[in-house]
Amino acid sequence: MVTGLFALLLGVEPKRVHEWYLAVYVDAVEWVELPNVLGMSQFADGGFMGSKPYIASGKYIQRMSNYCTGCRYDPELASGPRACPFTTLYWDFIGRHEALFDQHPRLKPQVMNWQRKKPEQQQAIQREAITLKALLSR
Ligand code: SF4
Repeated sequence: MVTGLFALLLGVEPKRVHEWYLAVYVDAVEWVELPNVLGMSQFADGGFMGSKPYIASGKYIQRMSNYCTGCRYDPELASGPRACPFTTLYWDFIGRHEALFDQHPRLKPQVMNWQRKKPEQQQAIQREAITLKALLSR
C-alpha cells in the first residue's frame, strides 16, 4: 500500500510501477499482480476495479502503523521543513486533479478542503511537491 501510494501520488507511469513490482518481488505472479497494481493501486484501469484512486496522506499512515513514531517529518504538515512527503504529495495530487475530482461524490470533500487552503498554502505545497519530484528523479 505504501509504495503503491507513493508512486501514485508522484505520478509514476502505472506500467512502470507494475514492471517494478514484477522485478523486485520474487513471488509476484503477473495475473495476480497486474490487476492489483494497475487497478487497485494505481487507478489505471479506467475505474474497473475501483470507483476512486486509493490515496491517503501521511496522517493515514500514522493512524494505521507505527512508522511515524520517531520520524523527522510531521504527517500533519503539507509544507515547510518538517512536512511529511506523503502529505505534501497527497495535497498536490488533489490540487492537480481538482477538476476531475470536483464532482466525485467521495473525493469532493477533499477537493473542498484543498480549495479552502489559502493560495499561498497551495503554492507552497505545489512548490515542495515539484522539489520532491526533482530530488527523487535524480
Ligand atoms: S511522517 Fe515520516 S513515517 Fe510518517 S508517513 Fe510521513 S515520511 Fe512516512
